[in-house]
Amino acid sequence: MLEFPIYLDNNATTPMEPRVLEAMLPFFTKYFGNASSRTHSFGWEADAAVEYAREQVAYLINAEPQEVVFTSGATEADNLALKGIFETYQSKGNHIITVKSEHKAVLDSCKHLQKMGADITYLDVEADGLIDIAILEEAINARTILISVMYANNETGVIQPVKEIAAIAKKKGVLFFSDATQAVGKIPVDVIKDGIDLMSFSAHKMYGPKGTGALYVRRKNPRVRIAAQMDGGGHERGMRSGTLNVPGIVGFGKACELARIEMKKDGERMCKLRNKLEAELLKTGRAFINGNTEHRLPNVSNMSFENVNGVDLISQLNKNIALSSGSACTSGTNEPSYVLKAMGLTDEMARSSLRFGLGRFTTEEEIDYTIGQLIDIVNK
Ligand SMILES: *Cc1c(COP(=O)(O)O)cnc(C)c1O
Repeated sequence: MLEFPIYLDNNATTPMEPRVLEAMLPFFTKYFGNASSRTHSFGWEADAAVEYAREQVAYLINAEPQEVVFTSGATEADNLALKGIFETYQSKGNHIITVKSEHKAVLDSCKHLQKMGADITYLDVEADGLIDIAILEEAINARTILISVMYANNETGVIQPVKEIAAIAKKKGVLFFSDATQAVGKIPVDVIKDGIDLMSFSAHKMYGPKGTGALYVRRKNPRVRIAAQMDGGGHERGMRSGTLNVPGIVGFGKACELARIEMKKDGERMCKLRNKLEAELLKTGRAFINGNTEHRLPNVSNMSFENVNGVDLISQLNKNIALSSGSACTSGTNEPSYVLKAMGLTDEMARSSLRFGLGRFTTEEEIDYTIGQLIDIVNK
């Protein structure tokens, strides 16, 4: 039985996994202690739960637990990485390289740093959403301290050549930060193999709770230092003060454990459904896939529809199907997506785009219904 509305906006947020909620519940009530309380069992229990979750999170990305800094989400982790690096490494240089199609949390942090004296290069992307590695390498100069390139794009699912970027960064002695919020939990992400120095990600994009995320900060080869952006009790080894969100962190840990075990199976299933959706819509002859289809997350599709008004499309669909056109973070305005514009789409084609974000709980029935609805509208 289909239940409405159908949720196909899993890049904006995911529903919380019941097994995650179950793991969290005792930490709202019985185990309510402050993880920093050192003098009694309430504190010790909360601290033990946080440290267990830190291991679960670290294990998913092949990091050491001490390299995981808990934050309120990926936005905070992005801010902490960019501003924290700029502050610490300013004596070495003020140049940061990023990309036009990054998430606003990265772009707006860079904009802020420009006011503080940073020199920011915003790389273009190719028509398929990928950066040109040669152009990245050319952009590096003696004052470059950081390369900030996202792992996978939130609007198109396109996966950047992370290993190659890391190799260039290493060769030039520049740090590499990646916003991996859309990638972690969906595809294998390994900070050692990938060569990432700092990495942000978030629980609510992988079936965990909202308001919890992490920044990975490498501790050796090289040892990365970041200046705290929040002053207080010196929590998280001085990098992020503030009483820890114990239930959120416990849920994040559980979500990471489940993702590690189930991502392959989930990914294969979602990929099949995504490919079916695309194949059927392409048959209308008026649909186009935006972004590279080879280097792409298994659960995402971004499509534009020729001669179809995007606003009409969304308003007709949204009664029964929840999905987004462009980025959830900039929706509410009718501005065409800056990510698609960076890939060279016209305003019109960008405005007629839909982002399908399939999830762990998406069923084939839901995809079949979505196909039927869209074909009807597009053919009208
Ligand atoms: C969702 C998202 C963010 C923001 O994460 P929050 O935890 O909601 O702050 C940052 N970057 C990317 C790529 C995202 O998809």
